[in-house]
This record gives sequence, structure tokens and C-alpha cells, in this order.
Amino acid sequence: MTDNDADGRAMTASTAALRAHVAALADQCVKCGLCLPLCPSYRVERQEAESPRGRIALAQALAGGLAAPSPALVAHLDQCLACGSCEHVCPAQVRYGELLVATRQLLRAQVRPGRGDALLRAVLARPRLLRGLLRLANLPGVRHCIQSRLVARLLRPPQLARLARELPRLPPRPRFAPRREAPLRRGRVGLFLGCVASAVDRDVHAAAAHLLRALGYEVVVPARQGCCGALALHRGEPALAQTLAASVRRAFVAAGVETVLVSASGCFGTLREQAFAGTQVRVREIHEFLAADVPLAELRFRPWPARVALHTPCTQAHVAGAEAAIRALLGRIPQLEIASLPTQPRCCGAAGDYFLRHAAIADALRAELLDGAAALAPTALVTSNVGCRLFLANGLRQRGLGLPVRHPVVLLAEQLDN
Ligand code: SF4
Ligand code: SF4
Repeated sequence: MTDNDADGRAMTASTAALRAHVAALADQCVKCGLCLPLCPSYRVERQEAESPRGRIALAQALAGGLAAPSPALVAHLDQCLACGSCEHVCPAQVRYGELLVATRQLLRAQVRPGRGDALLRAVLARPRLLRGLLRLANLPGVRHCIQSRLVARLLRPPQLARLARELPRLPPRPRFAPRREAPLRRGRVGLFLGCVASAVDRDVHAAAAHLLRALGYEVVVPARQGCCGALALHRGEPALAQTLAASVRRAFVAAGVETVLVSASGCFGTLREQAFAGTQVRVREIHEFLAADVPLAELRFRPWPARVALHTPCTQAHVAGAEAAIRALLGRIPQLEIASLPTQPRCCGAAGDYFLRHAAIADALRAELLDGAAALAPTALVTSNVGCRLFLANGLRQRGLGLPVRHPVVLLAEQLDN
């Protein structure tokens, strides 16, 4: 059965249901504005339409048929970083994340994505292809060529030129010597690798496996785990996100693990709420798991007289919630000083593939965050999400600074005294 929208176009029953869902979620907003000071896009743009309250009003108008999906409306809704800061402080408990996904889904039904968006979508949904491309792009000479000014001028669509500039580097694969004493066997845990992270966080995965083995765990890394689906979900493609999540679920269930550990905070929420919801499998954030593991107290860590600046990703602060565990774990390294970055801007601007599509806002947020880090004069910047790590590391390189950006589990594994 079909109905008509405000412009007289035929509307399917599913579109009408989606509109009703968006309208019901948007109605919860009491327009108090308490979320505005914490919104990173509002911080940069200083316009109501770039704030949570403004976006909710746009979603409400779209759902009610009072506004058409004009380029400006689409841009304001697309420029949200989906950081979750507004939802975290909202006194009316508006489910902004759900509202955003539903609104973007509604827009997808009406506006065709651009060529760059379609290309990114195709590559990100194929982790093996992505890994191959990243390895190829990081070959000496190839990287230099890709990042040359001439090639940058030729690359189309613009997202591709931006990707060339922000091309992630592959970290060396570290080798950790096994412990001299074999620990007691304590169980099996699965390790989630992710899509982009499976290539660019290989040092993190090696470090996590080393720490877990030192604690007596058998670490299972199922092949063909794929992407958690977070990027697809935030783009407004819940069906694709569910397909990707189902593939992850199948890989871990076939491997017979009951606990899946996640080292990238950006993947944690989707794994918990989409991939493994309603199953016996427990999704645990790696730092929270390690900090709660009683035998960790028996491990010794070598001193490191240094100061690190700790960045807490939005997904760590609002979803995974393991900031205290990260501090407790880093606190096990003698002589290490942990300095905190200012809490605003918390968002570094990476936000999945956002930094490729909205360079101006992303770069402004990164610059402010790096200024805050530089003021602390640290030996390293530490963050627990893959996207933030890559984007911040590129920002530091572009400033000509050699400051490394490390993941907490890598620091721990390097300092573990065997
Ligand atoms: S999710 Fe983040 S960027 Fe988007 S409106 Fe809320 S605070 Fe702003
Ligand atoms: S804090 Fe909540 S109720 Fe207030 S304007 Fe923001 S989203 Fe609306």
C-alpha cells in the first residue's frame, strides 16, 4: 500500500513507518540547548543547523514532510560526527544516535549517494581488498607517487585525493618473546580485528595477544571475521550493517568462543548491540577485560620514565566506557606519567570515514586537539581507537612532529617484564 508525501510523491509503507519513527524520536527534544556546548560540529561552525538541536529540528521537518531533502539539509545532517556527546548530556534522554541513523536512512531513500561515497562504501565492505590496497599503497615509491602534488590534482572524486593525503601507514609487526614461565591455562578468548584495523592495528592485535597469553588465555583469531558494520550503520544503512554483523557473528560462533575482545572502541558498540546481541557470546572491551583480570596483578612491567598525553575517543567515553581501566593499566608501568588532554574538543574529527568527506571540520577539530596535546609536551600521544590514532598521527606528521601515537595495549606489552 502507498501513501503520498507533502510533495504528492508516492510513499511506501516502510518509508512512512521510518518517518513516523523519526518524528517520534525528534518529539522527545525539549529544545533546551544543553547539548550545544559539547557538539564538535557546532564548536567549529557556530550555526544552529550544525548543532544537535538544529539537526533534530531538520529531521523533524523532513519526517513531517515540511522540508525537502535540499543539498543544505543533507549537508547539515551529514556533517554530524555521530560522536554521541549530545545524547550523553541530554536531560530529556533523546535517543539522538538512533534518530540520526533513521534520518540518514530516510535520506538514502530520497538522495542518491555521490560517486566518492559509493566507492568508499564498496571498499570498506571488503576488508581483504582494503588490506591489499593499503599494503600496495604503502610500498616505497607507491606511497610517494600517490601523495605527489601532480597525482593529488588528478584524483577524483575529492574524497580520493583526501584519502591519498591521509593515507594510513602500516605499523611494523612487533615480535614479543613468549614468557619464560608457561602460565596456567585459563580459557579461550576471541580477538576481533576489524576492517581497517586488521591492517593498521596489527601491532595492537599482536600486543593484545601477547598480554592475553601471558595471562594464560588461548587467543582465537577466526579468519573471515570482516567489518563490524559501524560505518554502514552511521551512514544510514542498517540492513548492510546487519549483514556485516551477521558475518562477524558466524565467524566467532563457528570458532566456539564465548568471549570476544575488542581493542578499537569504535567497533565495540556495534559488536555488542548488533553482532552478538541475544547470543551467549560476551563482547568485552580489551582494557576493561585486562584490568578486571585478577592474575594481571602478578605481571611485572618495566619502568618507563616518560609522560604520555591520554586522548579518550568519543566511543570510549560514551559507549565502551573503559577510560578508568586504561588509566589503571597504564598506571602499572612504573615512572609513567599520564597527562590528560582537555576534555573539549574530545572528538578528533576522524569519526569513521567522516574526515574524508568533511575535511574542514575534521581538520579544525584535529588542530585544536593537537594544540592541546603539544602543550603537555608528552613523549607519546595515547588513544584507544584506530581511526583517531591514524588521523592524529597524520596530523602530527603534517606538522613535522615525530611524536608517536600509541595504543595503550602496545605500551603495556612493550613494558611487560618476561
Ligand atoms: S552526535 Fe556529536 S556531532 Fe552530532 S549533533 Fe551530537 S554532539 Fe554534534
Ligand atoms: S539536550 Fe536534549 S532536549 Fe536539550 S536540545 Fe539537546 S537534544 Fe534537545
